[in-house]
Amino acid sequence: MGRYEIATVVDAWFALDGGAMFGIVPRPLWEKKLAPDARNRIRLAARCLVAIDRDARRVILVDDGLGDKWDAKRSDIYGIDRSAGGLDAGLARLGLSREDVTDVLLTHLHFDHAGGTTRRGRDGRLELSFPRATYHLQRRSWLWAHAPSDRDAGSFLPDDFALLQHSNHLHLIDGDASPFPDVDLILSEGHTVGQQLPRFRGEGTHLVYCGDIIPTHAHLRPSWVMGYDLFPVTTVEEKKVLLAEVLEDEGVLVFEHDPLMAGCRLREEEGQPVFHEAVEL
Ligand SMILES: [Zn+2]
Repeated sequence: MGRYEIATVVDAWFALDGGAMFGIVPRPLWEKKLAPDARNRIRLAARCLVAIDRDARRVILVDDGLGDKWDAKRSDIYGIDRSAGGLDAGLARLGLSREDVTDVLLTHLHFDHAGGTTRRGRDGRLELSFPRATYHLQRRSWLWAHAPSDRDAGSFLPDDFALLQHSNHLHLIDGDASPFPDVDLILSEGHTVGQQLPRFRGEGTHLVYCGDIIPTHAHLRPSWVMGYDLFPVTTVEEKKVLLAEVLEDEGVLVFEHDPLMAGCRLREEEGQPVFHEAVEL
């Protein structure tokens, strides 16, 4: 896409309650698209995006997954499966290591998006997982993560991000000014405060990383919004704009959590953007 080579890497597989993933949508409708397990959970990916700009020697990682700081009890609750080797194995398949990552763009700080920001070193102390990288985050997202509401406090784990504060690796962004050429930041307020979604521009088309605004292909319909969202009506309106722009540009949507596909293209049906075909990245 333009100056960037784009790939996706799954850090981990995990599972969340199907009802929470689909909000007010009745189970008989959503279970046809993503079948739940015996505990009513849907299998999900923690899929990160890697964008390589060889000329600028820049390697951008978008979100960094669940990470590996999980005890047995929580691993069971969330059905965490890291048997494929996580980000290390995924980066290695691209010929990269953690040291090659120059920038980590975090959409927001929920534990399934920013959990890989830190890990425990040999001495057991937390360290930044990408030692050379600058971590880019919206300032409002950063502030919200430190004082969330009672409703969403469980989605933030301070061990994931507290270390950034005095690290000199944190770049807080105010608004949509992108730190990268040919990348727009789409600001989104429906799911959480200050989510940012990168849009990589090519010639006449684009690719957008959908974060938690369209987590899977089963969430393409604007009204199919997650129960987790703080402001679901806002999400509905934001999705309509994003989908219309992707349709117009014949662009690609990348799904952070889809268990079946990395992304898709859209087509128009009765005036609405609908699923067209899966895209592998
Ligand atoms: Zn989230």
